[in-house]
Amino acid sequence: MEDKFLKEANNTASNYPSDKLTMQGDIYEQFNKILLIEDNPGDARLVELLLGESDLLNCKIINKTTLTQGLELLAEGDNFAAILLDLSLPDSRGFETLQKLLGRFPDNNVIVLTGLSDKSMGVKAVKAGAQDYLIKGAFDADSLAKALRYSIERSSVLKRLEDSQRIAHIGNWEYNSNTKELSASDEIYRIFGFPVREIIISPDLIENPIHPFSAFKEIHDEAIKEKWVKKDMQIRQKNGETRFISVECRGIRKGPGSFILTGIMQDITERKLAEKELIKSQDRYQDIFTKSKDAIYICTLDGKFVDFNQATVRLFGHMEEELKKMDAHQFFQSLEVRKQFLEQLNAKKAISDLEVIFNCNGDVKRYCLISAGILETDDFTGYNCVVRDITERKQAEELIKARDLARESASMKEQFIASISHEMRTPMNAILGMSNLVIKTDLDTEQFNYISSIKKSSEILLGIVNDILEISTLQNGKVEFEYKTFDIHELLTNLINIMQYKATEKEMFIELVMEPAIPRFVKGDQLRINQILYNLVGNAVKFTDNGFVKVFVKILSENNNTVQIKFEVQDTGIGIPKEKLEAIFETFTRVRSKDRIYEGTGLGLSIAKNLVEQQGGKIGVDSKVGYGSTFFFDLVLEKGSEEELKSDEKQLEEDIELKLNRPLQLLLVEDHKMNQLVARKTLERHWTDIDLTIANHGKEGIEQLEKRKFDIVLMDIQMPIMDGYEATKYIREQMPPEIANMPILAMTAHAHISKDEKFKEYGMDDFVLKPFEPKQLFAKIAKYVNKNLK
Ligand code: ADP
Repeated sequence: MEDKFLKEANNTASNYPSDKLTMQGDIYEQFNKILLIEDNPGDARLVELLLGESDLLNCKIINKTTLTQGLELLAEGDNFAAILLDLSLPDSRGFETLQKLLGRFPDNNVIVLTGLSDKSMGVKAVKAGAQDYLIKGAFDADSLAKALRYSIERSSVLKRLEDSQRIAHIGNWEYNSNTKELSASDEIYRIFGFPVREIIISPDLIENPIHPFSAFKEIHDEAIKEKWVKKDMQIRQKNGETRFISVECRGIRKGPGSFILTGIMQDITERKLAEKELIKSQDRYQDIFTKSKDAIYICTLDGKFVDFNQATVRLFGHMEEELKKMDAHQFFQSLEVRKQFLEQLNAKKAISDLEVIFNCNGDVKRYCLISAGILETDDFTGYNCVVRDITERKQAEELIKARDLARESASMKEQFIASISHEMRTPMNAILGMSNLVIKTDLDTEQFNYISSIKKSSEILLGIVNDILEISTLQNGKVEFEYKTFDIHELLTNLINIMQYKATEKEMFIELVMEPAIPRFVKGDQLRINQILYNLVGNAVKFTDNGFVKVFVKILSENNNTVQIKFEVQDTGIGIPKEKLEAIFETFTRVRSKDRIYEGTGLGLSIAKNLVEQQGGKIGVDSKVGYGSTFFFDLVLEKGSEEELKSDEKQLEEDIELKLNRPLQLLLVEDHKMNQLVARKTLERHWTDIDLTIANHGKEGIEQLEKRKFDIVLMDIQMPIMDGYEATKYIREQMPPEIANMPILAMTAHAHISKDEKFKEYGMDDFVLKPFEPKQLFAKIAKYVNKNLK
């Protein structure tokens, strides 16, 4: 029976959940462990019965029969709400028993059990630190419950205090300056990094300046001096780690030089570190805030600025002080957008990258991307805002758009010009070619004159078409300059001769004044230089009725390889008003004359200017109305030699000569009847024995090629049924190699053909422009036929 009780009690004890580190309230309430150190089984049983009768719930008694066993159990670290201690045990008797227990476990609530005979012992025990005493045989359920309840209460309060100290990292201590005794709560040990009560905080440790506990001396000295101290300080832990603590200590004087010091300390390291982190991160954010190129500001929902950075000041263009008084919402250019912004912000709590226009100070319009988020704290409701100024980007985008549009329209213009020129060149090819042929037949004077004037007019017309084409190519920067040796003396003399011929109708003369040092042979684009001079001298003759036109050619600078030549065309004509001097170099600009109409298109000078400048020179004019004008330009030309010129010319001659010992077999694919005739006559005049076949379109051409052998094909591009590109593609890809590999020359009025390179893509070897220059046509035919022979 007794054994069973003991067993049960022990079992129960071992089944208790450990509540050492737990603080859940229900566990405190569920089990209050009571240690009963009592060797008499009857007394033990009685205690249990009385406890069962009492109103105390949730108590479990663990019974040990000797002091040694009791102490062993306590040493295991279990917490007991109370210890019921019999003072006469087999291994210890009397008052000593209590002293032994309290000596080792001073914080326990001990209720001593004494016999009726030694009641005085109970009183003595209480004085020595016991909580209460009960006289065996004289206590009932109520008095047992009362004593225990008080103990349980005290132990639970102490426990809660300890828990809260531990959780809050607060410890308390008391120091007696007289006895130099210091008693501290467990948390004090933890704060200093020592296992609880591993060592005693003894006077020698407090006095030892290198020991962590010397912190107490510092606090006590101050507290004695000031009576009260409250401060944050750093301490060192057992392992050398630094901790921050907040201490408060009061010194109470007990006598001369004798004080009782009571203090509490709290470990505030985490808070300190968090504060430091916070300051650090605040500094970082502050940095971003101030240095940001984006405007960042915080304002209330009705637009009052709370904080803003310098970029905000720069964006809105108002001084800081002004801005503080302004409404952040007033800058929205559109009321509609402002409304949309605020509605969205309220509804979604955040907005990102809304594109807006701000009207900043001085009516400056800025395109911005605005992102905002609602800020809500206890005492503030508003929003933060990041505004990126994208005005420059916007402007650049617009410029790009404008540029693309301009490019598009330029290319449309170019295409238009190309197609117009095609349309004009094709019939003109026929007119010019036919007039050339007719003029060589037997004609009477009248017929000859008519044909001559047809020829002259169509030459002028062709000139205009060429000018328009030329300027459109020049303005697109697509001109490639030739680089060949030529005789500049010859060029100038020829030019003057032609012009002299033109000027004969007028009472004027033309003179070439050339510095003797001007080298004869130079390298460059002869045709283009001729064209510049032709335009300038042509104008001088046109706008001068009497007097002279002089062409000066001077050397500006020279070295071994190059010479910089200045050309001046001086006339005594009508002159140009000062305000028009610049404009005349622009396309289609002409000065209107009251008394006379001069023919022209207003293109000559802009062509000349473009040609000069694209060859790296400068062009200009001096003029006085009624007195005359001087146009001038300069060019740097490389020096050449006669040998180079001769070898170039020889090459050309060779190119024109066919290396065939039989008649040339040529297939002409061309739909235009007139052009067929022009080509036929031109070719037959040069190669009298030519074997020429004509096909009216691509398909017919292919049929011819299937029938017989040819040396070369001249292929028109635009044709009905099958055009030149398609036919060439077919020949190259579908026909047997000996036909597929034959030379094919495109014949086109497309002046831009060389630029689009399309003819090469389709497999044509080269092209001849219509109306063709006979020599060029012969040279190209010869070149490809000869090449194919090798
Ligand atoms: P065009 O001669 O076909 O009109 P240009 O571009 O050659 O076109 O010349 C533009 C204008 O500049 C002429 O219409 C004329 O008013 C003026 N101009 C050019 N050269 C002379 C000159 N030597 N004397 C007077 N005016 C000139």
